[in-house]
Amino acid sequence: MQVGTGTSVLNRIAIGKIRIFHQKEYKINEEFVEDPIPELDRFEKARVKVQEDQRILYDKAVASAGEESAAIFEFHADMLDDDDLIDSCKTIIVEQKHTAEYAVKQGFANTAQMFRDMDDPYFQARSADVIDVGNAMLDELLGFGSDIGSKDEPCILVAEDLAPSETVKLDKSLLLGMVTREGSSNSHTAILARSMNVPALIQCKQIDESWDGKMAIIDGYNACIYVDPTEDLLKSLKEKQNEDIRKEALLQELRGKKNTTIDGKTIKVYANIGGPSDVGAVKANDAEGVGLFRSEFVYLNSTSDPTEEQQFQAYKRVVETLAPKLVIIRTCDIGADKTVDYMNLAKEENPALGYRAIRISLTRKDFFKRQLRAILRASAFGNVGVMFPMIISVREVRECKELMNECRRELENEGQKVGHVEIGIMIETPAAVLCADELAEEVEFFSLGTNDLTQYTCAIDRQNAMLEPFSDTHHPAVLKEIKMTIEAGHRHGCWVGICGELGADLTLTETFLRMGVDELSVNAKSVLPLRKQIRSIDLSKSAE
Ligand code: PEP
Ligand code: MG
Repeated sequence: MQVGTGTSVLNRIAIGKIRIFHQKEYKINEEFVEDPIPELDRFEKARVKVQEDQRILYDKAVASAGEESAAIFEFHADMLDDDDLIDSCKTIIVEQKHTAEYAVKQGFANTAQMFRDMDDPYFQARSADVIDVGNAMLDELLGFGSDIGSKDEPCILVAEDLAPSETVKLDKSLLLGMVTREGSSNSHTAILARSMNVPALIQCKQIDESWDGKMAIIDGYNACIYVDPTEDLLKSLKEKQNEDIRKEALLQELRGKKNTTIDGKTIKVYANIGGPSDVGAVKANDAEGVGLFRSEFVYLNSTSDPTEEQQFQAYKRVVETLAPKLVIIRTCDIGADKTVDYMNLAKEENPALGYRAIRISLTRKDFFKRQLRAILRASAFGNVGVMFPMIISVREVRECKELMNECRRELENEGQKVGHVEIGIMIETPAAVLCADELAEEVEFFSLGTNDLTQYTCAIDRQNAMLEPFSDTHHPAVLKEIKMTIEAGHRHGCWVGICGELGADLTLTETFLRMGVDELSVNAKSVLPLRKQIRSIDLSKSAE
């Protein structure tokens, strides 16, 4: 048996086989070739193999999910018979004397762009499929192989590191746990693991390629992984796992109950989500609404800039399914650790202090308006709020509101239905806390993003694991800022919530209630434990 240690992201047990995840880095050879024939041959072999793979996926999907869901794989397979697309790649090889992978990258990117430029939303959406198939071709040509087969069995994923864009694409139903050599507790990857309720171990320096395929246990309580565990250990941790399941089942009796303290104060408990696939967890855990829909995960999940229609469909699915519950959609918070290739963001010296979130939205107005229009259209199907991330000034909020109004007018002129949309902002910079009185005049609610607020107040990069010994999640300055924000919001009739990870910290629930917080938005699995905690508090007794 081998033991790896690290930092635990979730106190739970995972038992299963390890699968080592290798990051893909497409190194495209851009040099010219003398003889294009071998490249044409490589291209053709890859085309046939990927087409075969897509047909296998189609058959499997028909069996497991039905013909309608499987149709996408048939479409992918047929794309590889498309003369225009295939000829354009071959021309790049033969006439421009480039490698097969270069031709695939260019040819598929040009075709994807052509789809994106079409007026019909259906065809616009097909651009993502073109990129998907192009990537499958690159996997084949560059030796990454296909994932077929390995996708069938639930496993513990082990990786050097996982970017949020990689984590969000993992098939949750096949993910038992995650272990990474890098990572920090407050990174978005860790947040995603918590929201997926997946035991994760970060900073595990003992990771080894030889673990691939071996049986293992992640013990989230003791922050370690046992590879090839003994029978006794397996038995005792299996019991612990069952006990967790039993405890979780007991919490179900709190479904439908109020989030009310013993002395009668009621607050709202909402859930944080990343997309339509999280809606089931919101319902299963009886959250009263969604306090933070991290809309950027819709972008991270896509291989090309999502169109207005694609976004509208994603938001509508969430809003409609959860109606009449409030769904607060945070506008795109791309940047820093959350990057996507298609946005062509420049590398920066200090990305956390850089071009991210609302700064991108306010400088790429067409991009921002596409999202605002999608949100406004979704508002016709339920109860929607919108909030803007990384705000530091009143000017920014006013600009956002003006663009919202512009989009609303456009949609109304087009005869589209639009509902009321509650407007709020994230308070996650010290500047916003200090200007909270002025900001509160502009909006209906504040949501405290304590992850970034802690990062910016304490000058501690949340991505940098080396700084964890210096980090204090209960730093008095942050707690003071939370109190100041709640008081400023209330002075101006704004309700105030917390949607950062601190909202789920049960040791602070009473403190937040005493400060007067109106809402806590936490990962779905934390909703019922938080409800239990709130119901055990008596604010009429003096604080300890
Ligand atoms: C936060 O900063 O606390 C927050 C909720 O936003 P994110 O973690 O996505 O940056
Ligand atoms: Mg934030």
